Amino acid sequence: MDYVSTRGSAPALDFAGATLAGLASDGGLYVPREWPRFSEAEIAGLAGLPYAELAQRIMQPFVGDCLTPERLLELTRKAYGRFAHKAVTPLVQLDEQQWLLELFHGPTLAFKDVALQLLGLLFEEFLGRGDGNLTIVGATSGDTGSAAIDAVAGRAKIDIFMLHPRGRVSDVQRRQMTTVLAPNVHNIAIEGSFDDAQAMVKRMFNDAAMTDRFAIGAVNSINWARLMAQVVYYFAAALQLGAPARKVAFAVPTGNFGDVFAGYVAAKMGLPIERLIVATNVNDILHRALSTGDYSQGTVTPTAAPSMDIQVSSNFERLLFDVGGRDGKALAAQMAGFEATKAMQLTNAQREGAAALFSSARADADEMSAAIRWAFTECGETIDPHTAIGLHAAHTAGIDPAVPVVTLATAHPAKFTEAVTAATGQHPALPARVGDLFDREERLVDLPGDYGAVADYVAARASPKA
Ligand SMILES: *Cc1c(COP(=O)(O)O)cnc(C)c1O
Repeated sequence: MDYVSTRGSAPALDFAGATLAGLASDGGLYVPREWPRFSEAEIAGLAGLPYAELAQRIMQPFVGDCLTPERLLELTRKAYGRFAHKAVTPLVQLDEQQWLLELFHGPTLAFKDVALQLLGLLFEEFLGRGDGNLTIVGATSGDTGSAAIDAVAGRAKIDIFMLHPRGRVSDVQRRQMTTVLAPNVHNIAIEGSFDDAQAMVKRMFNDAAMTDRFAIGAVNSINWARLMAQVVYYFAAALQLGAPARKVAFAVPTGNFGDVFAGYVAAKMGLPIERLIVATNVNDILHRALSTGDYSQGTVTPTAAPSMDIQVSSNFERLLFDVGGRDGKALAAQMAGFEATKAMQLTNAQREGAAALFSSARADADEMSAAIRWAFTECGETIDPHTAIGLHAAHTAGIDPAVPVVTLATAHPAKFTEAVTAATGQHPALPARVGDLFDREERLVDLPGDYGAVADYVAARASPKA
């Protein structure tokens, strides 16, 4: 399988190349040249497999001959062996129609672990084949940073520089990053929002002064390998609920449009998905884009679901590319317009293509709290604020009562204690596996929201390409 850029002019790469490159050199995102397709019989044949085996079977067509099936299976077993639940992503029933897919049983308590535990191993595997070094530069609204740092701390040939918006991540999120003292881990608190941090990271990928000296790699969901790993749990959940004979809908708390795009990929591969419900908080650029065609950047409002406090959804570009006829030149022009004016209109093809599978809903703070309370009092389940926004959308999407609706439970409630305690009156406890997080030493540096300062900091500490 090879990978092409959504903006049409970067060279095509194989899976290993796309994994190490992150962002394409023309500013676009890598996508597979075509979608592998599983027949109904092939999908039925996946039922009942252990998660690591299912993961190998779903991912092999994307990996191609960059990894043998045996090697890929070794890596998925190693990655998912670190999860605290044998099912890796267990399904929990809430009522006759509603289900939760618990994606937070990894080491850092959010769904980002599902992809990043594997991505850390893929980096190590592909770097081990040459003598280059990788400089990972990422921006985090909290969960990507901790999951990526856990996945690469102490690994050879990799340095990681993680930017988070100062004061806008939870204490648990920050400590999960800053208490990792391995010498290849560099935490940077920057002045500004997540979008500001993400814009600096994207700029570094296109800054020849940096890319000539360093191989800059990505752990954000602009990295295709992350989305690929997330496709697996859509299959896992749907198979348990009767796919391919029965359709399933998914409600997905969304920020950068990565997780829900993985659902789109599952549908493209043949999984019968009734609907993908994009759930946003008041930072609702995606809800507006999907319901009116107007993709225009608002200002970011901090909420109790900080991992969704995003107004530029990087992976939306992958959807626009695919439903818009895969015309890289046209999309490059459309995105240049967006970057210049912070607004764009979707084309008719893009609107109709998206509407065929996606619905959307927005939850404000009260609706989020009400969803946490409903799950707690009616179903005995404690859910986090992000999951609650997904559940609100699941309830309001008007899905046929005969179709099961699975809300992706993207974080453990103990990661976001304040909002959960306010809604339920109970303080959710951290699972024992995170240990003495609040007693450990923290290490981080504060930098201004200025690209030059960040680039200088990275350049002074990163290892050159080769
Ligand atoms: C990252 C994150 C999201 C948003 O996921 P995207 O792939 O960016 O859409 C939602 N919930 C939690 C808890 C997250 O960490």
